[in-house]
Amino acid sequence: MKAARLHAARDVRIDDVPTPRPEPGEVLVRVRAVAICPSDLRLYQDGHASGVVPDHPMIQGHEFAGEVAEVGEGVDGPPVGTPVAVEPSWHCGECDTCLAGHENLCRNIVFPSFPQTDGALAEYIACPAFSVAALPEGVSFVEGALVEPLGVGIHAVRLSDVRGDDRVAILGAGTIGMCVMLVLRARGVSQITVVEPIEARRRWPAELGADPVVASHEQLLTADFEADVMFECSGDNEAVEQAMSLTRPAGRVVVVGIPHPDQVTFDSTIPRRKQLTVIFSRRSRNTLHEAIGLLATGEIDMGALPVRHYSLEETADAFEDTAERRGDMLRAIVEP
Ligand SMILES: [Zn+2]
Ligand SMILES: [Zn+2]
Repeated sequence: MKAARLHAARDVRIDDVPTPRPEPGEVLVRVRAVAICPSDLRLYQDGHASGVVPDHPMIQGHEFAGEVAEVGEGVDGPPVGTPVAVEPSWHCGECDTCLAGHENLCRNIVFPSFPQTDGALAEYIACPAFSVAALPEGVSFVEGALVEPLGVGIHAVRLSDVRGDDRVAILGAGTIGMCVMLVLRARGVSQITVVEPIEARRRWPAELGADPVVASHEQLLTADFEADVMFECSGDNEAVEQAMSLTRPAGRVVVVGIPHPDQVTFDSTIPRRKQLTVIFSRRSRNTLHEAIGLLATGEIDMGALPVRHYSLEETADAFEDTAERRGDMLRAIVEP
């Protein structure tokens, strides 16, 4: 099969590699859409994922959908040809964190696209059957690929314990910020403020009902704005302190974005004097069926998010366009 493999930082090549076979308990997926996540971009640009260096030319991509091409031994369905989405967080189900219900923090987690496990930027990928769910009619492969970031949004909102009458703010109107916002709205949260420096990206949260949508956190600070619950979704290093400074005393901050660089500094006086609860959200846990349900019922319309389409051969362009943080797209979609 053809696969886009990262040979070194910014060096993606289309290689012929053996097509994976589904092991017992696995499903082989013919990949139809892969969304490029900023976390994939980090590995693409830096050549390592927060210090973990690939030991082989890696296939990246963890936000994907496709159709079942083959089922391994012991798997009853979904049948060959079924369109499916995949939760790419493959836990062991046996370690102490799994048994405590924190499968996303599994000590033996396998995450396709994180070294050393190959991801989905290829024609096929083998996935554990438990991580695969059928896409209902009317839900496209692109929306199927966005089930993973939607799951990240669902997980973050669950952790936040937000209530319908809370005043909420989101830093960053990229895909994750927008997924958090869509989930909040589906949960009946109506007071949503969004901070997004890229002008063209302010359009989407405004259209979806965020008010106000501003360019910088200073605008909110000078207006004495305070959130009950704050979601940091920008991944900007300084945004963690900004989020804290905009949260009311005894409020909650959920850090969803992956700070870049990894080391974060903040004035500890801010969260200390306000006794803030700061929660770091990790990927998603058990969100696959809920995410698909929200799409199937139309409660959430991922079709509203702007994407651009690329062939597998154009994978490097998809990464470079993602790096540019273009205003006119939130996700680059590679269609192998
Ligand atoms: Zn992702
Ligand atoms: Zn485990």
